[in-house]
Amino acid sequence: MFLGLAELLIVLLVVVGLAFAVVAFLRRKSTDLSDTACSLCGDKTHMAKARPLYGHAVCRRCSNGFANRRVLAALLDDALIFLIAPFLIALAIGVFQPVIGNLSAFGRGWRKVEDVYGWFVIAYLLKDGLLGYSPGKFLVGVRVINAVNGEPAGIWSSVKRTLPLFIPPIPLIVALQLAEGTRTGDGWAKTKVIWDRFSDRAPFNGQLVNVPIEPVAQ
Ligand SMILES: [Zn+2]
Repeated sequence: MFLGLAELLIVLLVVVGLAFAVVAFLRRKSTDLSDTACSLCGDKTHMAKARPLYGHAVCRRCSNGFANRRVLAALLDDALIFLIAPFLIALAIGVFQPVIGNLSAFGRGWRKVEDVYGWFVIAYLLKDGLLGYSPGKFLVGVRVINAVNGEPAGIWSSVKRTLPLFIPPIPLIVALQLAEGTRTGDGWAKTKVIWDRFSDRAPFNGQLVNVPIEPVAQ
């Protein structure tokens, strides 16, 4: 077996959390603010279905675009850190280790990786610490900043906002919060996720709320 029970549980939790994210995303409610400009793109075209983002009203298109990016970044990080990186390292160890036996090169490598799988959990905790970009966030163009001073998140902030994800019910709660901005863990770490393309716009730069819009997620 490639994974131990603990690792399988972690992978399972992540998968279930993401499934809930999809459901929450599809069930989001909206408010008709057709006369108001979107806080991100500035357009009124899609404001008939406006949604809150950090308390600011944004159009349906921008809301979806931001939520999609965060979900995709999470999927990429989960796959990269818990599956692809261990797989490649196991392959490399197997190929470069001159062990004689009847195990395949990958099998030999995987046994070594299994012994140190905890390091991948540590890598996961640190993932947002490099200028606020995890690999997945970098690829989709979102990043984590300090909500107070706007500086990119560091390693300690990354640990604080990622640690709660390992407590069983939290990924499900996070899934419901994701589209509207702040999620569990961001409060403790004093962080927020921003969309690079619109980093100077009100929801991301700390400006006061333009049009009050009530959060709809529970
Ligand atoms: Zn917009």
